[in-house]
Amino acid sequence: MINENTKKSGLGTEAVWAGEQEQRVHRATQVPVVVSVAYAYDDMDEWYDVAIGKKPGHIYGRNTNPTVTAFESKIRILERAEAATSFSTGMAAISNTLYTFLRPGDSVVSIKDTYGGTNKIFTEFLPNINVDVTLVDTGDHDALEQEIRKGCQVVYIETPTNPTLKITDIERIVKVAKEVGALVIADNTVASPVNQTPLTLGVDLVLHSATKFLGGHADALGGVVCGSKKLVEKIYHYREINGASLAPWDAYLLLRGVKTLKLRVLQQAENAMQIANYLDKHELVEAVYYPGLETHTHHDIAKKQMRGFGGLLSFALKGGMESVSILLPALKYANCAANLGSVETTFGPARTTSHVEVTPEERKALGIPEGLVRVSAGIEDSEDLLADLEQAFNHLAKEMSKK
Ligand SMILES: *Cc1c(COP(=O)(O)O)cnc(C)c1O
Repeated sequence: MINENTKKSGLGTEAVWAGEQEQRVHRATQVPVVVSVAYAYDDMDEWYDVAIGKKPGHIYGRNTNPTVTAFESKIRILERAEAATSFSTGMAAISNTLYTFLRPGDSVVSIKDTYGGTNKIFTEFLPNINVDVTLVDTGDHDALEQEIRKGCQVVYIETPTNPTLKITDIERIVKVAKEVGALVIADNTVASPVNQTPLTLGVDLVLHSATKFLGGHADALGGVVCGSKKLVEKIYHYREINGASLAPWDAYLLLRGVKTLKLRVLQQAENAMQIANYLDKHELVEAVYYPGLETHTHHDIAKKQMRGFGGLLSFALKGGMESVSILLPALKYANCAANLGSVETTFGPARTTSHVEVTPEERKALGIPEGLVRVSAGIEDSEDLLADLEQAFNHLAKEMSKK
């Protein structure tokens, strides 16, 4: 699974160099954006050989594209995988991967706290095709093991989760899944390969919303899945036919974003830790969720399997949504927006971000308070973010004292 040839350099170096050389032309130091839909051949035999995969090359943009290939190679190397394929969005990566491996009558075991869109696939679309879905309380490892042991084709995890930052012990779950021959798929969007490489912990497939930390600038959508050649070829086949292909311009923007992945994620983790510490001490804050806090329920598991705790955290305010509506607009250095993982700090309630797809009742059942606010720390100077929080909280305190 882990390609030994790709283990020679550090992640920061690979993020800059990996996957690019083969796609460069005219001595340009950057990968070109190839917008051509089709590729022309004078030699009919060569055309045929490329078409059936006997020779390398490109035929048609829905299948492959040189800019897209460079992006896939880079992520493949960062995730220490043998193969990778990409998608138009993170949700396309998730849905195409699940539909590649699940058939009517199969069963899948997952956690309740997956991303809202993923949760919809489990609760709405997979039951439609008669796939049995079991969702376990996130973090209840005993229950998860018990359900997997009953037998299933796929185990799907996301760790840390968005936005509650719960952690699943990857090695522990992989061990049980192997006993029953189930495929383990992990959403690594929140951690990014800087903090965690799930393939090295035994999962079969790791996937990302490249829209978030990988791209890092909130200007391109994309998804990617990495794993063994055998598995990734099956997913690629599903995608080339069903058509959720990554566009060349987006591939270029994501490729450029990934070059600074390590720098960004390290600064985002530093800012997230400082924001978490600030919130943790504040009297108007009810709870803070960040795996880097020693008080976090899964701090020990996070420390064991992650190299850093990442840029995402969440918190609940005293006074719920009413307080949220006062605090968030008072922030100067924060987009109140649905995105995460970008260079700008972003604040947003779960009910309009990660879990906008599900109903208030469903959010309650998933254990997501209506007033929960997700924070995606950007790369700004920590002092400015803390000063901004301080003035916004002072504003909130003043408004609350008027009531
Ligand atoms: C955003 C997100 C997705 C979906 O990705 P899109 O690119 O928006 O389709 C999936 N998983 C997680 C954890 C996410 O944060």
